[in-house]
Amino acid sequence: RMNQSNRMLLPDGTSLPRIGQGTWNMGDDASRREEEIAALRLGVELGMDLIDTAEMYGDGRSELLVGEAIQGLRDQVYLVSKVYPHHAGNEQLIRSCGESLKRLNTDHLDLYLLHWRGDIPLEETVVGMEKLVSQGKIARWGVSNFDVDDMKELLGIAGGTHCATNQILYHLGSRGIETELLPWQRSHKIPVMAYSPLAQAGSLRKGVIESEVVQEIASAHQATPLQIMLAWTMREEDVISIPKASSRKHVIENAAAGLITLSNEEIWKLDEAFPIPSWKVPLDMI
Ligand code: NDP
Repeated sequence: RMNQSNRMLLPDGTSLPRIGQGTWNMGDDASRREEEIAALRLGVELGMDLIDTAEMYGDGRSELLVGEAIQGLRDQVYLVSKVYPHHAGNEQLIRSCGESLKRLNTDHLDLYLLHWRGDIPLEETVVGMEKLVSQGKIARWGVSNFDVDDMKELLGIAGGTHCATNQILYHLGSRGIETELLPWQRSHKIPVMAYSPLAQAGSLRKGVIESEVVQEIASAHQATPLQIMLAWTMREEDVISIPKASSRKHVIENAAAGLITLSNEEIWKLDEAFPIPSWKVPLDMI
């Protein structure tokens, strides 16, 4: 089970695990439903008690599944969902949040994120988010897929500094945020929530897990290369990563990755094999 050293404090004092659980594509396959629910519940038991979902995922099917998985555990879970950009204004934002709450079978979210930036003015979204906070439907709000300029704009508008996090793509094979966005967020005490920390299952992941350096470090820790990818996201205290795992085996491996501490030398070797770009690159997204 992950322990206290695997947790971080938000500026408001909330304690969060540095490895949580993603749920994209969960609930899509009826034959896997029981296994996915059991995986999420086991994850909470093992200390990965932040669960991330979105109204977009499976058109609400992911939220329905999460709603079922957290029954009896609601108080132990830090629940995150996201609103579509085209739903993120005025009455529609309030309605979307209400529909997410219904599917999740709860009366509040711990965090509600704008999934990515769309055409609705940020001012309108922030007003709506603050209204949801005052109604007690969400404890906090944040954004996702915002690059530095978007973040600067957000913090410049009334209420914008209440933004709790920016959920962005980040893994060993995609380190662009380290040029500007991550340091900027750090200086404003806005933690990064790293999505796709295992680089999903495509060729980018292959490049990381087949690297000699990653394999060497993995065998030194008797771990898998994917566990090293997760342990790497934990080398800094203000990054929360949210791998998605839908089997017990993967959940157990991901929680165990939280117990791996990479040495400085290992981190240097990984820096050499997977360098930070030398200049600002556009934010990677999926
Ligand atoms: P991940 O990088 O988390 O990779 C998920 C894949 O890795 C799945 O195929 C999963 O398989 C597999 N996996 C998980 N653990 C292990 C393990 N220990 N060993 C081997 N394979 C493993 O990709 P995601 O894109 O799902 O990102 C994570 C979460 O981030 C999403 O689920 C979602 O909640 C969020 N997200 C947010 C976005 C945004 O725009 N804000 C965009 C993308 C993701 P299996 O399911 O079989 O366990």
